[in-house]
Amino acid sequence: MGQDDEARAAALKRVRKFVASYTTRGPYTLYPEPEVVENVVQGLADNLVEHGKMYCPCAPVEESKAKAHHMVCPCTPHREDIERQGYCDCALFASHAFVEAERLRRK
Ligand code: SF4
Repeated sequence: MGQDDEARAAALKRVRKFVASYTTRGPYTLYPEPEVVENVVQGLADNLVEHGKMYCPCAPVEESKAKAHHMVCPCTPHREDIERQGYCDCALFASHAFVEAERLRRK
């Protein structure tokens, strides 16, 4: 593996670890579509490698950089977004109630 590959692999590992611990310890769970979740995880890893922090992959990074920690995952607005729509704007984290409602809807 080249240095870039190693950095990408390390970033991905860090993001996966963060997501696992956040959903284990925090009040939220994962958005109920694994491929959507995986895209966000990959985007977070890209930003970690390219910009040094887990900037939100669904927001413009240059704007996020100007806002200090506001848009570093878990971003400041995610609680309000989950409260309002059931999931964060990237569709990485979701409330348990949203996931349960989706499960019933898809039955
Ligand atoms: S919208 Fe979701 S994935 Fe994006 S930074 Fe906020 S909590 Fe993380």
